[in-house]
Amino acid sequence: MTQPTTSAQMPLSLPPACLGVMGGGQLARMFIQAAHQMGYQTAVLDPDPACPAASLTHHFVHAKYDDALGLKKLAQTSQAVTTEFENVPQSSLEILARSLWVSPPSKAVGISQDRALEKAAITQAGFDVAPYQTLSLRSQVNAQTQNLLPGILKTTRMGYDGKGQQRLNNIEQLQLALDADPDSPKRATYVLEKQLPLLAECSVVIARSFDDQVVHLPVQLNVHRAGILFSTTVIPNWIEQTLCDELILASTQLAKALNYVGVLCVEFFVLEKAQNSTDSKYHWVINEIAPRPHNSAHHSLNSCSVSQFELQVRTLAKLPLTQPTQHSPCLMLNLMGEMWLRGGAQQVEPHWDEILRLPGTHLHLYGKHEARIGRKMGHLNITAPDASKALATFDACCNILGVEPGDHKPLLF
Ligand code: ATP
Ligand code: MG
Repeated sequence: MTQPTTSAQMPLSLPPACLGVMGGGQLARMFIQAAHQMGYQTAVLDPDPACPAASLTHHFVHAKYDDALGLKKLAQTSQAVTTEFENVPQSSLEILARSLWVSPPSKAVGISQDRALEKAAITQAGFDVAPYQTLSLRSQVNAQTQNLLPGILKTTRMGYDGKGQQRLNNIEQLQLALDADPDSPKRATYVLEKQLPLLAECSVVIARSFDDQVVHLPVQLNVHRAGILFSTTVIPNWIEQTLCDELILASTQLAKALNYVGVLCVEFFVLEKAQNSTDSKYHWVINEIAPRPHNSAHHSLNSCSVSQFELQVRTLAKLPLTQPTQHSPCLMLNLMGEMWLRGGAQQVEPHWDEILRLPGTHLHLYGKHEARIGRKMGHLNITAPDASKALATFDACCNILGVEPGDHKPLLF
């Protein structure tokens, strides 16, 4: 038999083949749970032997993401490899792709690692992003910069959950922020983004197969607090249908423009259109992409016929894709470390018994032992026969967990 010569020619992986994943956090944990359910073996590479996926996987490779021997072991154990996060070195995925089917493609992962490259790729595909400028030095502040303030200064690399971001109101604050960079002369590069008046935040998770089948999950309505996802609402007819159609089409077109294969999340900012606008009442821009399953689609584990993790398994194994359908209205609440730290410094387990007494609550904990402020410990999916019941249960869960539920309103124009 002739050996396949490119990654694209690698064969279909049927169970019990071993599927590998770079990174062992909660996204890898939920990926391997989906893979195990379908009869696959799994392998995980992570530098932390106590990572959430380590105790569940068949094979664990304890290595740094760029360790040649570790990559070799992962490649020898697995038939195909994916990644659970965008910050694995692009070169490691390229090394793996020499002998294995790797999805998503390393190039797309490389683009999503760098906000400046990402914005350029999104713009090149024909979509708007928030007005921005790439900056690293005080001397680059110019006449255009003023138009971007108030703005958000984001490190181009290694940002997540709002980390590496500063909200700035004026040029003086911006110059101070650029001066105060402690890494000088190895300075970080930033994008300064105009702070937009958001009407809402939405995201779409799509999956694209090696042979160009594309399926999507329902459009998600997201609420962030302090730059971190707080909740996601996915209720039929909750979001204007024309907006949903536009966002799904844009996500599909973007995946095609990036030659993307795998699960892709596209985050959108929905903005109010100027009062004098004659066409639609809204406008949207793309915030960013994630080349993997996304926190905002965790609802799919309990609300949809196919979860985002099963989609990741299917695209990686080169199995066919079928369009997921939503069977229950759902709200997802992120379970943050602060919910364990309400009594002060001492860590106390929340009263899951009180939560699980409520019909339609689905608890997902990631096996993290130490709770920290801002750390994602798990999530709670709340399903119900209708929107009002789902919302009432969501509010009750927030009360038990000691967080303000906030308002959840439909996005209709
Ligand atoms: P994550 O990886 O969790 O998605 P991140 O660290 O990559 O987050 P962003 O998605 O860039 O960060 O920003 C986090 C949140 O901050 C956004 O979801 C939004 O609520 C707010 N935000 C970011 N940029 C802007 C902007 N230009 N205008 C208004 N709000 C913004
Ligand atoms: Mg984001």
